[in-house]
Amino acid sequence: MTVPERMHAMVLHEGASALRLETRPVPQPGRGEVLLRVLACGVCRTDLHIVDGELPMTVRPLVPGHEIVGRVVARGPGVPAIEVGARVGVPWLGGTDGTCSYCRNGRENLCDHPRFTGYTVDGGYAEYATADERFCLRLPETYPDANAAPLLCAGLIGYRAYRLAGEGLEHVGLYGFGASAHILAQVLTAQGIEVYAFTREGDRAGQAFARRLGAVWAGPSTARPPNRLDAALLFAPVGSLVVEALRSVRKGGAVVCAGIHMSDIPSFPYRLLWEERVVRSVANLTREDGNDFMRLAETVRIETHVAPFELRHANSALSALREGRIEGAAVLIPKAA
Ligand SMILES: [Zn+2]
Ligand SMILES: [Zn+2]
Repeated sequence: MTVPERMHAMVLHEGASALRLETRPVPQPGRGEVLLRVLACGVCRTDLHIVDGELPMTVRPLVPGHEIVGRVVARGPGVPAIEVGARVGVPWLGGTDGTCSYCRNGRENLCDHPRFTGYTVDGGYAEYATADERFCLRLPETYPDANAAPLLCAGLIGYRAYRLAGEGLEHVGLYGFGASAHILAQVLTAQGIEVYAFTREGDRAGQAFARRLGAVWAGPSTARPPNRLDAALLFAPVGSLVVEALRSVRKGGAVVCAGIHMSDIPSFPYRLLWEERVVRSVANLTREDGNDFMRLAETVRIETHVAPFELRHANSALSALREGRIEGAAVLIPKAA
């Protein structure tokens, strides 16, 4: 497989600016790294927070993108596990120190010195990308490239949010019915859990989409569902939804915030939290989450709805996501040789 010397990439130079289409050298895989030809890269809400300047940039210029489906085209020294030609996925957690107390205690998602794909290291809004082979995930073969991409963050973070929501769930609310919720709704439904979908006021198309994917009820986020929820999982970055969700959650229930950024949470009366309700966040993922979720995606045939965009149209994909015009997940498709 011949690898060219230069590639196209969509590059962010500073927050709150548009990405620029640039030609830059194809990165060289270092020790323990693989070089991937990017087959597809999902567009995540976190990318939007980075591009919109809501998350501080620590590396610039930056190639965003942390839902990479790629084909291994070269290996750096010391890569025993992955063959050239293998298709792998690269998620948000791109590396850890392996030594901090979190890493040593099975909580590498909270590592003190993490590497985040498409945030602290370059990601997949490009024709080629490098990745630490230890953090690459095997993808179920049954998913085409574009359909596999949203599993890598939307699917994975949704799955972690669900796992942290408690045991014995029967009625689960999903606030914000985008890329994560449309995947998780199918997983929950397959496990016999009833899904209640909450969308923006008046988003009838989004509510119909949720019902098609198995939701037993869909309505605006300020509405009360017909049943008390055992848990509410929040995917929309809107702090007031924490309060709305608490109003709909039963005694002992959990409200799990899955996003990396959210507008401020308004103050609320203590009685909404009383009776052992819990509000918590989910940060990042562990490799164990990744492997467990990919195994689940193999048994539950998840239909990921994707809106494909050419790599050079990444700004249009981000705009469509910002304006809530994507049904399912936006995915960038580079046309590399
Ligand atoms: Zn993400
Ligand atoms: Zn660590």
